[in-house]
Amino acid sequence: MKRPTTREAVRIAVAKGDGIGPEIMNATLSILQAAKANLQIEEIEVGEKVYLNGNSSGIEDEAWNVIRESKVFLKAPITTPQGGGYKSLNVTMRKSLGLYANVRPCGSYFPHIHTKHPDMDVVIIRENEEDLYAGIEHQQTDEVVQCLKLITRPGCEKIVRYAFEYARHYNRKKVSCFIKDNIMKHTDGLFHEVFREIAREYPDIESDSWIVDIGSARLAATPEIFDVIVMPNLYGDIVSDIAAEISGSVGLAGTANIGEQCAMFEAIHGSAPDIAGKDMANPSGLLKAAVLMLNHIGQTEVAERIQNAWLKTIEDGIHTADIFKKESSKKLVGTTEFAREVIQRLGSTPQFFEVVKSEAQGEFNLPKYVRKQPAKKILKGVDVFVDWKGEHPDELAENLHKIANTLHLKLITNRGVKVWPNGLPETFLTDHWRCRFEFDEETNSSPKAIWELLEKAFQHHIDVIKTENLYFFDGVRGYSLGQGQ
Ligand code: NAD
Repeated sequence: MKRPTTREAVRIAVAKGDGIGPEIMNATLSILQAAKANLQIEEIEVGEKVYLNGNSSGIEDEAWNVIRESKVFLKAPITTPQGGGYKSLNVTMRKSLGLYANVRPCGSYFPHIHTKHPDMDVVIIRENEEDLYAGIEHQQTDEVVQCLKLITRPGCEKIVRYAFEYARHYNRKKVSCFIKDNIMKHTDGLFHEVFREIAREYPDIESDSWIVDIGSARLAATPEIFDVIVMPNLYGDIVSDIAAEISGSVGLAGTANIGEQCAMFEAIHGSAPDIAGKDMANPSGLLKAAVLMLNHIGQTEVAERIQNAWLKTIEDGIHTADIFKKESSKKLVGTTEFAREVIQRLGSTPQFFEVVKSEAQGEFNLPKYVRKQPAKKILKGVDVFVDWKGEHPDELAENLHKIANTLHLKLITNRGVKVWPNGLPETFLTDHWRCRFEFDEETNSSPKAIWELLEKAFQHHIDVIKTENLYFFDGVRGYSLGQGQ
């Protein structure tokens, strides 16, 4: 949620991080200070030192409290120590603080920074908490592990609405949705359905949908056809790095993680230990993150001044080593000197690049999620997952017929491919079988029958590893047909 502008200094938490972190953070803070950002900075320690002190999450309780009180966190990259047992601080922050929207603007600065895409100006809005990143994984048999892909209606509504509000707020013309609902009809299907529903509320903004594979291919080849793109977590993770890279360099992009209460801002790159302590790093990614932060807290004029000074520095050919090219650069500078050059240009505007003017209008309209009337939910059967080392599905079916009650065996699949009845001998089989039982009649549908089925399975030494109930919601099937289509 964006903060209204205030005259009082805005309290923010700042972590200088590891590797190049302190260098790029000092450079960024010097620019913020020179531009007269009205901030009350509270420094906290997160990252390598905290991990190595025995805290597996990389952050102490005190630091958590500072972030939760200030609600705004500017974070330099950190180093996660090698070896197991250390939790990703970013994933912890995003989930614990409910930072559901990851916003990553990726624009090109051609011809001053080399790119194949001179007209690229894309904003990726990635759902940040759900999908395969729920982190629910299980080994179920010797041969099979599983990761649960969780997509929720509130999660979809929040991120899709955020994308349309962002587009309206920043005068963008189109929002595209990347999904894979030709395969994942229920999970990505829900994301797409919500996208279509919410798009109708924004007739002033164009909308379109892309299957993520071809959408990503088009983004890599012709990014200029896209404007704002919204997508579930995993696709967003991958696609946003590609988008940043093809715009010029991952070293140039900043990102915002926005929640209903708190927000975290950072560069998209890591702590670059290979160049740490050499005053070589480009502070631009973190500076861009700080600009996103200033816009978030309503200090848009300061954000504008910094952006224009930065653009002028870039077009004057003052470049750090990562973007320095003999043909387009004039002066090779280190981190500290780059910051000094930006500071000298505060108040001036670029001549080649378009001058940045905050055209933001009003606040984002992000109403709280309202749960709908519950649907009429009818139990139709159960998928029973079985660990079985046999090779002939007919044998398994024969055993399973023995446990049937009002639930009858209809189908067996292996890795989602139908193997009974009428499977193909060519199908490769693992030790993980999904056995679908359905009620013979709706009137018989009772959860008790499932418990009885499982009890009988136990008596017949059938190794049940998990079950999934099969429901219709308001007359609509809520599960895949499970025949490998
Ligand atoms: P990295 O992004 O740190 O470095 C990749 C390459 O890009 C290196 O050659 C590096 O020198 C260069 N580079 C990165 N930022 C630069 C900058 N601002 N200016 C100039 N060159 C820059 O990725 P990595 O090497 O895979 O990871 C290093 C460490 O960073 C790891 O411990 C990793 O876990 C951590 N990491 C942290 C974050 C984060 O805190 N958000 C994100 C990614 C990686």
